[in-house]
Amino acid sequence: MWDFVPGQSIALTLDLRVPARFYSIASGTGDSLADVLYDLVPEGVLTPRLSGLQPGDELLCSRPFGAFQDDRGPSCWIATGTGIAPYISMARSGGTEGKLLIHGSRTIAGLLDRDFFSSLLDGRYVPCCTREKADGVFDGRPTAWLSAKPLPVAERYLLCGNSGMVVDARDILIGRGVKFADVIAEIYF
Ligand SMILES: Cc1cc2nc3c(=O)[nH]c(=O)nc-3n(C[C@H](O)[C@H](O)[C@H](O)COP(=O)(O)OP(=O)(O)OC[C@H]3O[C@@H](n4cnc5c(N)ncnc54)[C@H](O)[C@@H]3O)c2cc1C
Repeated sequence: MWDFVPGQSIALTLDLRVPARFYSIASGTGDSLADVLYDLVPEGVLTPRLSGLQPGDELLCSRPFGAFQDDRGPSCWIATGTGIAPYISMARSGGTEGKLLIHGSRTIAGLLDRDFFSSLLDGRYVPCCTREKADGVFDGRPTAWLSAKPLPVAERYLLCGNSGMVVDARDILIGRGVKFADVIAEIYF
């Protein structure tokens, strides 16, 4: 595995005739393999092909790139769906002190690495679900949680996932006085 900074992405494809797509690295800097998380988009160009891969098949992969990164100090990590991937990388790389994670998913099963974050962040992890209910899971979107609660004290707010969440969360944060420069966003689609 190459050197990378948690939060960075790689471009992946199967061969040069298939357009590459970007994926956040979900493994830690000390891990020997690179993990990515992806949703199967049935009408998509790449993910149906990725889901058909067998052990030993080859992938074309770029070097890590991107400026979606965090520093030490308090920050609030907000994600929808597979947008949790960069925070998994940051957490596996040891950077969770002072972090609050808010993760939204339609389903409980989509709250990826819920046990890992529950034990690691201990009270600083807010799983949110819109279509199913479970104990300890906020009933609604991350943006509903942000609107209803006192704003977490954070130096930075990182937003990762679909454009609807990123735009709405950024509006809420800026409306509550957070500086534009302190909101860092990675939009997946
Ligand atoms: C910097 C960056 C990092 C990214 N990291 C990740 C990642 O870690 N994991 C990940 O799953 N995706 C990630 N994406 C999105 C990813 O690059 C692809 O867009 C996605 O995997 C779909 O690829 P596709 O070729 O199958 O579908 P496409 O042919 O690209 O898309 C078909 C349609 O599906 C929509 N779509 C794309 N993704 C989704 C989705 N998840 N759910 C519903 N609809 C969708 C598109 O808007 C489009 O309308 C990232 C994107 C960027 C820009």
